[in-house]
Amino acid sequence: MRWSNQAIATEQGDSLSGLAKLSNIVRSVQTPEFAGITFHEVLAKSALNHVPGASNSMPFAWTINPYRGCSHACVYCFARNTHTYLEFDAGRDFDNEIIVKINVAEVLAKELRTKRDRVPAVALGTNTDPYQRAEGRYRLMPGIIAALAEAETPFSILTKGTLLRRDLPLIAEANRRVPVSIAMSIAIFDDELQQSVEPGTPTAKARLSTVSAVREAGLDCSVFMMPILPHLTDTRAHLDEALGQIKASGATSVLYTALHLRPGTKEWFMLWLEREHPELVEKYRFMYYGRNSYAPKDYRKWLAAKMQPLLRKHRLTRGVEDPTTGGVAMGPARAIDGNGERMPLPSIIAEELPPESALRAISAPTLF
Ligand code: SF4
Repeated sequence: MRWSNQAIATEQGDSLSGLAKLSNIVRSVQTPEFAGITFHEVLAKSALNHVPGASNSMPFAWTINPYRGCSHACVYCFARNTHTYLEFDAGRDFDNEIIVKINVAEVLAKELRTKRDRVPAVALGTNTDPYQRAEGRYRLMPGIIAALAEAETPFSILTKGTLLRRDLPLIAEANRRVPVSIAMSIAIFDDELQQSVEPGTPTAKARLSTVSAVREAGLDCSVFMMPILPHLTDTRAHLDEALGQIKASGATSVLYTALHLRPGTKEWFMLWLEREHPELVEKYRFMYYGRNSYAPKDYRKWLAAKMQPLLRKHRLTRGVEDPTTGGVAMGPARAIDGNGERMPLPSIIAEELPPESALRAISAPTLF
């Protein structure tokens, strides 16, 4: 098997207590190239996840997450709380204790042979990043992409990882067989702030260069400016600069939304804010995220009023849902109704949606 040749520096025989729920764990591994990170390799029983509450026919109903936890370590990451299921914490453990489904591609190929008709499209990157650093070691994505293309299953990929570039020839080839949608998440264009908020991620410049590489490979590429952080990245100057750079990268559309802070994430984010920007703690606690996970409606409207003229200025297209891939389409995509008629799709720009829909838009086809 492909993972049997991976170099192992240390096997962690005694680190399984928090993983008691995983009966299928193979081993826990640390290597010098990934200081501070432990990979927990598991044999997955299934690769396809059905999104709770989504009907089979919805484009975002099915997802694949080859990894749980994410070394990109974004302090705002909405998926943090999912780590507590494994008795890890939603903070540092989420960043450093990474579950790796080493057999995900083989299991996926098998599942698609039986479930293909029920799986209209698959979204990757909805929970944790499929091109996080671990992918350089485990190389799970080429097998996943090949399995999806082989089964003629459309798919979308959302990532912050520049490692995507490695697989562009394969993705471009898949795109000749099935619709594929690619999106790069880039929200912070101030390098110092970006390294503080997203310490494990490539720079915005490196991600923009990857957007250009996707375009050169003949694929559309959206940029997700998510999340926009109140008082930190929402100045006109920052948004203007960001959109200018996004336009120059050749991105085909842009989506944005304000920060939301779910339980689990909120506590970790607020610790960061207290440490790095204590002057904003009161505002965040009482004006923005006191009772709700979402920024107040007035703030979201204010942000939309700021963004719209800037999007026009930079001649950037807002992204919309693409029903064939579960990702983002450029321009006015259309869904097919029960009579086979084409009908308009709603924008998935979250501030224009009620919070529940926004949450699905963020956590299902997309996010971070
Ligand atoms: S937001 Fe995305 S890239 Fe950042 S830690 Fe979460 S899953 Fe990883």
